[in-house]
Amino acid sequence: MDGQSPIRELKGVGEKTQKLFAKLDIHTVGDLLTFYPRDYETFQKPVGIAQAALGEVCAVYGCVWGILGEKRVRNLHVLNVKLSDGTGEIFVTFYNMPFLKKVLKKGGFYVFRGMVQSRGANKLMEQPKLFSLDDYRKIEGQLLPRYSLTKGLTNQALLKYMRQALTFYGFLPERYSGSMLERNGLISERAALEAIHFPSGREELLQARKRLVFDEFFSFLFMMRKSKDYGRQITSEYRIQETADTVRFLERLPFPLTEAQKKVWQEIRGDMGSPYCMNRLVQGDVGSGKTIVAVLALLMAAANGYQGALMAPTEVLALQHFETVQGYVKKYGCSFRPVLLTGSMSAGEKREAYGRIASGEANLVIGTHALIQEKVQYHSLALVVTDEQHRFGVRQRERLAQKGAQPHILVMSATPIPRTLALILYGDLQISVIDELPADRLPIKNCVVNTSYRATAYRFIAKEVEQGRQVYVICPQVEGAEDAQDGFSGEGGAPMENVVDYTEKLKSVLPSHIQVAYLHGKMRPGDKKRIMEEFASHTVDVLVSTTVVEVGINVPNATVMMVENAERFGLAQLHQLRGRVGRGEHQSYCIFVSANEKEEVMERLKILKKSNDGFFIASEDLRLRGPGELLGVRQSGEFSFQIGDIYTDAAVLQQAAREAERILAEDPDLAQEENEALRRYMETAAENAVDFRSI
Ligand code: ADP
Ligand code: MG
Repeated sequence: MDGQSPIRELKGVGEKTQKLFAKLDIHTVGDLLTFYPRDYETFQKPVGIAQAALGEVCAVYGCVWGILGEKRVRNLHVLNVKLSDGTGEIFVTFYNMPFLKKVLKKGGFYVFRGMVQSRGANKLMEQPKLFSLDDYRKIEGQLLPRYSLTKGLTNQALLKYMRQALTFYGFLPERYSGSMLERNGLISERAALEAIHFPSGREELLQARKRLVFDEFFSFLFMMRKSKDYGRQITSEYRIQETADTVRFLERLPFPLTEAQKKVWQEIRGDMGSPYCMNRLVQGDVGSGKTIVAVLALLMAAANGYQGALMAPTEVLALQHFETVQGYVKKYGCSFRPVLLTGSMSAGEKREAYGRIASGEANLVIGTHALIQEKVQYHSLALVVTDEQHRFGVRQRERLAQKGAQPHILVMSATPIPRTLALILYGDLQISVIDELPADRLPIKNCVVNTSYRATAYRFIAKEVEQGRQVYVICPQVEGAEDAQDGFSGEGGAPMENVVDYTEKLKSVLPSHIQVAYLHGKMRPGDKKRIMEEFASHTVDVLVSTTVVEVGINVPNATVMMVENAERFGLAQLHQLRGRVGRGEHQSYCIFVSANEKEEVMERLKILKKSNDGFFIASEDLRLRGPGELLGVRQSGEFSFQIGDIYTDAAVLQQAAREAERILAEDPDLAQEENEALRRYMETAAENAVDFRSI
């Protein structure tokens, strides 16, 4: 068995399980091994009930004082018991577990593990896990990995397959030389995979994580720097000069550009008129007005008789850009002849779009990365803009070059990256920064609250909707099933809200004329598009969503952003979410709801109240977490690294960059014997690895 072996080769994986795995994009044993846990649950020593902190998952050990009560609420069977341990008492509620009546003996001693909540002056646990002291002792201190699963596949089943895969996984040659491992303080890949899924303790887990993060960063940096065009200025065949079109467009725009926008626009004009291809990154906080700058560059290309392409990470965003541009054509009569090209269009629609692109009739192509696929032949593609970057790699750039002359490239990003990191990640790009927001913006009002504030929040939401505004509510999960087993997850984790159930809940608490809909990444593209359109056109008042709305969506009428389980997100990500409101003339509000009331957690979230500056927030986030402090694997969202996080793993990123430079200087073709395994690895990995970064 090796990394390429189909998942079906594992014992117990039949057609049904294979389909479940496919949903998680796991097709081979290798895919399974790199399906890293979302976080880890620690079974800590039981604490005295008096010490059990509200909002935290604790284990308590005590004596059950009989069944307090049993009732039925609609379909729900409710069982209440009370536990005491000499330091205090805690009430415990179980749902739909009538058999416990027989199991829980009056005067018996048990360990209950669950989230500690309050009910009036009393402490309460709902649906805790139940253990005998002996059983609990066996798992005490262990870290149990938890995966982001799909309905039908339990954590336990996954662990069983993982164990099997690791046991039968063939000999894995170590790709790094002994000296490289030593220099960088890395454990072997094999040991890392073992420990990331079955850690014996925290220290081992951190070592494993470091190795896997290093691998990801190193492969990416090495391949990026090795690509033939890295850092090289390419002579451009498209000298694009400013024309009256952009000047007229700017005159007609209802607002003046900010000074920062003007400066960046000037830099772009300079690049496009120079003898070399532009290769520029525009960084600007959410709402700083990057789209207009991109539109100006595209308009300049069109006015010179060339084609431009605007590539967005999602269909929803592509469609939104398309509509914005169509609006400009109507209002300001600019010379765009735009065409939309996305993966979900019908074959007929696509064919028509291809035709218009090939003939040059369309001079602006807007779409997802369907627009750089083989079938698309351009007439004269002179400029490619990628919005919110995402999966536009060196390889894509090469692919574009094969379609004609190398176009100018402009990358728009709202990811706040400190300069030192930007130089590593975007070393081959010129960087422009839009460091100013349009002046007419009212600052967003923020609050960080606990879950008891929800009722107030719902009243507020209803009020805003009455006044014609719209609302986003963000939940971390799509559906409840994956965590239904025990209702909570993660170290110190509180229950996680999910989009599907939350939507139902909101529908029942909000006045019935308020239209609530939901959106998440697992929906079909057509459905997503429809919901987004309904929200944009104000057929929907309240949109409950996962973080898919994080990127780029512009609905200026939306004024409330409520984030559930805010403690689960990185500050940079919360800042991006906040950027979805405060985009219009109305006062906007952000409500960050934390299900964990621990002081550090609340303090971290309160940084969002103090500052609106994405760079500051990202660096504070890093400072407060401390690199490597984070056990769980967080997706940075902005970058497509699977496990590495550019903020928390900044030190490893720097280390990987130094190592990549060293090897490129000493043995760029990996021809030396000690780099033989690395060379073979890089050859097979080349296909995927360059896609890590967006550019
Ligand atoms: P982002 O940088 O997050 O992509 P957008 O380009 O979507 O931001 O711009 C957000 C909103 O601000 C849009 O509605 C846009 O029309 C508006 N906008 C852009 N530039 C200015 C400006 N200079 N003055 C006022 N509003 C602006
Ligand atoms: Mg944008």
